[in-house]
Amino acid sequence: PAERKAVYKIAQIGGDGIGPEVINAGVRVVNAAAKKLGTFKVDFNELDWSSDRYKKTGKYLPEDYIEVLKQHDAIFFGAVGAPDVPDHISLWGLRLAICQPHMYANVRRTRILPGTQSPLRDCAAGDLDWCIIRENSEGEYAGHGGRSHRGMPYEVGTEVTMFTRVGIERIARFAFQIARSRPRKLLTYVTKSNAMRNGMVLWDEAVENVAHEFPDVKMDHMLVDAMTVRMTLNPKSLDTILATNLHADILSDLAAALAGSIGIAPTANIDPDRVMPSMFEPIHGSAFDITGMGLANPVGTFWSACEMLEWLGETEAAEMIMKATEKACVDGIKTRDLGGSATTEEVADAVIARLQ
Ligand code: ATP
Ligand code: MG
Repeated sequence: PAERKAVYKIAQIGGDGIGPEVINAGVRVVNAAAKKLGTFKVDFNELDWSSDRYKKTGKYLPEDYIEVLKQHDAIFFGAVGAPDVPDHISLWGLRLAICQPHMYANVRRTRILPGTQSPLRDCAAGDLDWCIIRENSEGEYAGHGGRSHRGMPYEVGTEVTMFTRVGIERIARFAFQIARSRPRKLLTYVTKSNAMRNGMVLWDEAVENVAHEFPDVKMDHMLVDAMTVRMTLNPKSLDTILATNLHADILSDLAAALAGSIGIAPTANIDPDRVMPSMFEPIHGSAFDITGMGLANPVGTFWSACEMLEWLGETEAAEMIMKATEKACVDGIKTRDLGGSATTEEVADAVIARLQ
């Protein structure tokens, strides 16, 4: 558990596109909640780590970025990705460089918020309430592979998926603990061990092995393709979901869309050992199509701020912000993606006005 402090130092990395817009709104809301409670303060340290910095200096990050980040209690992150930088350069240059060494657990909660509409017929708030646990350090995004015979018709590219028993067991234990902490105590783990007969079978074996330590948690297994169908047709049957880096990445976008919008979903990149500060960010990307227009939904960022406050031990503040966000939705103060007409800043104002 976190040690509570009078002042938290947070690394603020808005990044690219709508990232700074939603993060600025999030900073306003967090500061307002801290002021309202009066029990702690938050000192946001703004860092210019972004694609603009890369285009100017050739680097996303300074050499000593790990040391810089370690001086903070958490990282509040927007998005990375620019139209004129290849996505694999920007993603690896910033987000994965920060997360991969220590933050092996990626937590993505999804539920239908009151006052919002799921695209699923007959599905209302309460019918879809999931917590997806994504393995965040290895698997399909391990970065192993190679290219040969460049430009030739017989060019080869390999992307080597790397799983380790240690890596699977530690994320499985983390997922079982989350499942245990939720009322339904239900964990569904997802693989593709019918077609992929090495690493995916290791996943099945390692997860089943860890399951013995959690006899109070009900567990079942799905193949990832069938899982998309179950999520869409029987959302009530799911609670906590464990999957690999790639599978959970895809399933969590689906989850956010089924809950109403990619703009509402939060992400927590957790280092359970607290060697590094953990990183909190909305699930969505830089979305240059709506940048600078006030259309960015800040709800995913507010929810991410709640996850951050919760991780820091400030549960009261987290609940205060979440309740105010839900009230603003119920009162119809929503951005266009949720069927409303409010701007990013208007949603932030509405949430601040509802803090209590
Ligand atoms: P990335 O490549 O980093 O995933 P992206 O530019 O592809 O980023 P996403 O964030 O993945 O964009 O989202 C896809 C689309 O969903 C965006 O182009 C945008 O129209 C919409 N969208 C994403 N985030 C939001 C948001 N917070 N509010 C409103 N609409 C959003
Ligand atoms: Mg995208």
